[in-house]
Amino acid sequence: MIAGLVYQISMATQSIFGGIVPNDIGGFAPNDIGGFAPNDNGGSVPNVTSFDDVISLTSRNSSAMSVTSSMVFTSENGTVCDECDVAEIFSPPRLSPRADLWGLRGGFSHDLTTGYDLLTTLGRSQSWHELQSSKPGVLIASPPCTWYSAIQNLNMHRYSADVREARSRDAGQLLGYALRCCKEQLLCGRGFVFEHPWKASSWKLPAVTEFLCLDGVATIDFDQCATGLQGPNGQPIEKRTRLMTNMPQIVEVFSKLQCKCKVKHLNIEGACLGVRLGPYCQVYTPALCDQLLGCSASYIHGDDLENSEGF
Ligand SMILES: [Zn+2]
Repeated sequence: MIAGLVYQISMATQSIFGGIVPNDIGGFAPNDIGGFAPNDNGGSVPNVTSFDDVISLTSRNSSAMSVTSSMVFTSENGTVCDECDVAEIFSPPRLSPRADLWGLRGGFSHDLTTGYDLLTTLGRSQSWHELQSSKPGVLIASPPCTWYSAIQNLNMHRYSADVREARSRDAGQLLGYALRCCKEQLLCGRGFVFEHPWKASSWKLPAVTEFLCLDGVATIDFDQCATGLQGPNGQPIEKRTRLMTNMPQIVEVFSKLQCKCKVKHLNIEGACLGVRLGPYCQVYTPALCDQLLGCSASYIHGDDLENSEGF
């Protein structure tokens, strides 16, 4: 059974965002809620370094309410969503165009391609307010993972200290904002899926490991070749991926999406037929979109899962 931790959260729309805090090894790491500096009142906000701080800060608001894990994860009555069922951050529209096939309302997709520069305070502010007003039943968050990739670590020596610091700070901002949005979904009883490669070093960051300790949050690894990912030459690409989620349906469904290839995979760290495979593989296959949408429909409609015990 899920332990009954109770979080005090604010229902006010006041933004409480932390900045980036230096870690002990001279770089920068995202704090738990990452994001931007000015709040709605135009002032600065205190640095926040842990979820306890977040809870403490948000509890100061008079309109705080309690959300228990049973409220967060109950599926009997479906989730509380408002203007849309499925929305995405850090991606062009991937799920929304197919949402109606699943009886779902597609929502926003916040990304550079849709006019949201989430590296800027303005971009995150616009995105955040849209999240607050739309209240999507499920949010898919795919923040950039390049900085946290194994190949990036190998090339780290090529960058000056200033460049390393700047890139780390930017990556932390984006990762922190993604976590902030996922946490908002979690605390408001709505679903989220956070996606990063399973090998990414981001999974070891304190902000992420602390998030994983939150009640009802789980991870599941799957292989994208099992959703039909293949190179321009038709060769399968494994792209093992980790999802962090509060949706039992995601764990149930994606645990079955494991590689069954009988031929050699195409190496993602290169090119094929003149196509760089890194950016190429960022596009979700229709099958992957449909798996996520199917889980979202099930979660939003409150369908029971036979094997969700122990989640
Ligand atoms: Zn495979």
